Amino acid sequence: MTMSDRDRLIQGMAGGGDFRILAAQTTNTVETARQLLDLSPVAADALGRALTGSLLLARLLDKDVRNQYVTLRFQGDGPLGIIIAEGNITGGARGFVGNPIPQDASLDVPRAIGSGVLTVVRGTPPEGKPYTSAITLEGSGVAQELTRYLAKSEQIASAVLLGVLNRREGVAAAGGIIIQAFPHATEEAIAAVESRIKEAPALSTLLEKMPIEDVVAQVLHGMDYKQIDSSFDVPLSYTCTCSAERALAPLALFPQEELQEMIRQGGSDVVCQFCGRKYSFSAEDLLPLTAKHDS
Ligand SMILES: [Zn+2]
Repeated sequence: MTMSDRDRLIQGMAGGGDFRILAAQTTNTVETARQLLDLSPVAADALGRALTGSLLLARLLDKDVRNQYVTLRFQGDGPLGIIIAEGNITGGARGFVGNPIPQDASLDVPRAIGSGVLTVVRGTPPEGKPYTSAITLEGSGVAQELTRYLAKSEQIASAVLLGVLNRREGVAAAGGIIIQAFPHATEEAIAAVESRIKEAPALSTLLEKMPIEDVVAQVLHGMDYKQIDSSFDVPLSYTCTCSAERALAPLALFPQEELQEMIRQGGSDVVCQFCGRKYSFSAEDLLPLTAKHDS
């Protein structure tokens, strides 16, 4: 794998310090999600945008650069069902699509997600309470929904660009850019950036042709842009945080009879919905869960 093929997140400034730029190349992350979760093209497109958005937001909203994660939960009335994307500041992301293979394969992402509620949870483990906010999903596409969330819940003026390019073999390109306007940016400067975004070719086609650094330069063409620190380069990947301990915990909530039935049958398997890993629990593993019920 060459340097330019590697998934990564970069950061820069533009417009003489008026704008902060975060950009992510996520092609391999999204292709891994497609393979693990057996996603149809429209599901890979929707989840790929959401995963990229979660990684960018985790970085954007963490002022202290600690251990922040961001979880995006799209609960729309479209055929994909619920979509969950979790990204953290160290570059790991994982996700889930309720119905990864909808019948109508010709749907675009806004219609495939539909209208409903977008819930955003962010926190910095181990300490620190998660912060949750929700906005109405308007069926306008992942990037537009996130732009609205940032404006309404975080009072951040921004433009969010996300793209996923599907080819017959799988995900050929994926990534995203967030352009954050600082409060001192003038209306003229913001208008200039908006017109550049409008004129720029589709993000996914740029991402297929060139590394993310050049994609940013293309989108902002003519504006001064520089990376704050060229060594700031966060590797991104599809990373699941599941473990046997975490997979076992929800079984404790099962009714007593169901637990006893699993024990009679010699144990039970639990499959992680984010990565497909299978955890096999024996009757001895499950026995302590029934004791918890009694107490
Ligand atoms: Zn997992």
